[in-house]
Amino acid sequence: MRKSRISAVAAMAAAAALALTGCGGSGGDTGDGGDTVKIGIKFDQPGLGFKDGEAYKGFDVDVAKYVAKELGFAEDKIEWVSAPSANRETLLETKQVDMIFATYSITDARKERVAFAGPYFVAGQDLLVRQDDTSITGPDTLTGKKLCSVTGSTSAKKVSDSYPGVALVEQGGYADCLGLLETGGIDAVTTDDIILAGLAATPANKGKFKVVGNTFSEEKYGVGLNKENTTCADINKAITKMIDSGEWEKSLKANTEGTGYTPNAKLNPPTPEPCA
Ligand code: GLU
Repeated sequence: MRKSRISAVAAMAAAAALALTGCGGSGGDTGDGGDTVKIGIKFDQPGLGFKDGEAYKGFDVDVAKYVAKELGFAEDKIEWVSAPSANRETLLETKQVDMIFATYSITDARKERVAFAGPYFVAGQDLLVRQDDTSITGPDTLTGKKLCSVTGSTSAKKVSDSYPGVALVEQGGYADCLGLLETGGIDAVTTDDIILAGLAATPANKGKFKVVGNTFSEEKYGVGLNKENTTCADINKAITKMIDSGEWEKSLKANTEGTGYTPNAKLNPPTPEPCA
């Protein structure tokens, strides 16, 4: 009985793995006879998705590893792919990646091109300013200021749609914006609070910047999928299991430690939405 249950679970995981990557695996033949899964993450967002030498670290990475394992992919079967904000839909549409865990907000506009499992976290858009700046306290104090955000992000879209008096400078990644903030080329950086907190807390940036702490959006982090993907329900099950097991909280704590960041407790942990 016990044995057959275990093999049934293993068979389910194998089926999910097959459904995720297509029958031949994701094409990334490792030469060791095992299928691999290609996962898109950020490489430049400390605490979330960060490439540290040969290691990949952060909360998005932990959730991705947990979900992959539940779908039948051990850690050494994961191929990590850089997924900058502007490239995420294309990476999924062209099947260059199987899943994306990259601070990727679920939006109706994105659902035109891709599908989402989750959410597995809810953040909020905020502002990062120089430590000595007292003039910027929220989005309504930005008129005439220069603001930096990232191409293809909900953060940039929100500013250009809702705050037309603000001069928006777009970069490829948020770390690029921080360089401009330090040298005075811009006055503030905007994106999700958890991303800003992670960037501001790195040894190189410590003491230079502060997160304003006045959020003005709800960013539900989903798992990006190709529209043909059939594993959404399995991914949601894995997310729920990670939350219920305590691993979700443990990872979130470890990855935000020392940043001064506290997640919005009213919105976290979220319940995954039903799959389409
Ligand atoms: N969560 C927002 C988005 O998906 C901003 C962060 C990002 O660019 O990854 O656009």
